[in-house]
Amino acid sequence: MDRKIFDEEHEMFRDSVRSFLQNEIQPYSDKWQEQGIVDREAYLKAGEQGLLLMWADDKYGGAGVSDFRYEQVLIEENARYGDAGFFASLHNRLVGPYIGELGTEKQKARWLPKCISGEHILAIALTEPGGGSDVAGMRTRAEDKGDHYLLNGSKTYISNGILADLVIVAAKTDPSTSHGLSLFVVERGMEGFERGRNLKKMGLKSQDTAELYFNNVKVPKENLLGEWNKAFYHLMHFLAEERLLGAVGYLGTSNAAFDITMDYITERKAFGRTIGEFQNSRFKMADMRTEIDVAQAFVDQCVLEHNAGRLSADDAAKAKLFTSELEGRVVDTCVQLHGGAGYMDEYPICRMYLNARVSRIYAGSSEIMREIIARSVGLDPRKRSPQAVSSEAAA
Ligand SMILES: Cc1cc2nc3c(=O)[nH]c(=O)nc-3n(C[C@H](O)[C@H](O)[C@H](O)COP(=O)(O)OP(=O)(O)OC[C@H]3O[C@@H](n4cnc5c(N)ncnc54)[C@H](O)[C@@H]3O)c2cc1C
Repeated sequence: MDRKIFDEEHEMFRDSVRSFLQNEIQPYSDKWQEQGIVDREAYLKAGEQGLLLMWADDKYGGAGVSDFRYEQVLIEENARYGDAGFFASLHNRLVGPYIGELGTEKQKARWLPKCISGEHILAIALTEPGGGSDVAGMRTRAEDKGDHYLLNGSKTYISNGILADLVIVAAKTDPSTSHGLSLFVVERGMEGFERGRNLKKMGLKSQDTAELYFNNVKVPKENLLGEWNKAFYHLMHFLAEERLLGAVGYLGTSNAAFDITMDYITERKAFGRTIGEFQNSRFKMADMRTEIDVAQAFVDQCVLEHNAGRLSADDAAKAKLFTSELEGRVVDTCVQLHGGAGYMDEYPICRMYLNARVSRIYAGSSEIMREIIARSVGLDPRKRSPQAVSSEAAA
């Protein structure tokens, strides 16, 4: 189905992004996969191209373009012509807006220009060894010591964890309430801030994912981001965008997997026919095309809603849930249609399959998405009537 959400300018942008990715990102994919990390130069080159934090005001060096469709184009093209571990969109739209929206004028002037040029790379650290889904249960603590904050704790599975120059760290600042969290910008080189291993993963091998340790880190007062004790609400505010970013990417991969499989099954032959001529293959491709197109219509609508400031948490959760589950089905079917070649690292579908497994886990797992959606339809166990609770207790 023709997509109606893009204008000519988006398509021109798509062409330039595509050639940037083909020339500056994709050729390094094998090297990065091997070394377990993207070269910093990738961010510098993306910065030169104007692809980082496009939404930021031009007084900081940004393009002042908040239209999410440009980021959507970048994500879609990266899924096909770039490298899955090049997490520019995490830098751009998942972490950057915390500074852009919560930062004071001074903080924005201090941090945004280097994030836009690619000299500074961003990460966000919520997940801890003790748990990720339960944000309110985090143990990393920060205390107000008068002229600084004292940060102690550890985080794990942090994307860009090795590359990051600025890490937005969530920590408990009011232990008397589960929601008493605050956000701090921890900078490379701060005393007591250590990085652990670059973790070995099933997929996304070119993406650096690390443990981070904070041992009595003295965080300057001016590095508190947003309001003291209000981080839980700040995090909730940004989650819809994070889930939409995911959904766009999972569909991008699904589309790319579909296309490379189409090429493969129309060339490869068995029993004197192309694989694509078997009824099983044709029906599998028909099912995938249908599901991808239907999902795309929903996600494109979510993008327009997001641009209008109306994307709800439950619609973002539906988009993330459906597209991540769909991506899993698509890459699995595409590997099957490739036969043994699909299991070989040299075929792109093999990496797509391995990379896709995490989509149902991070940025809120499928189970957490179902929780959010179930609550939105009125099935919220936290809001059970006192009568229901007391009759259950009596039973
Ligand atoms: C490659 C990668 C990159 C990541 N990048 C980052 C990052 O940059 N920053 C960051 O902060 N985190 C990051 N994460 C962490 C990620 O967000 C968490 O792994 C995820 O939120 C799940 O948390 P967990 O691993 O602690 O699993 P758990 O919370 O221990 O969950 C285990 C299982 O229980 C299920 N479960 C949990 N609670 C419920 C419930 N209430 N109802 C039903 N089922 C439930 C989960 O869905 C899951 O299936 C990353 C993870 C990976 C793998």
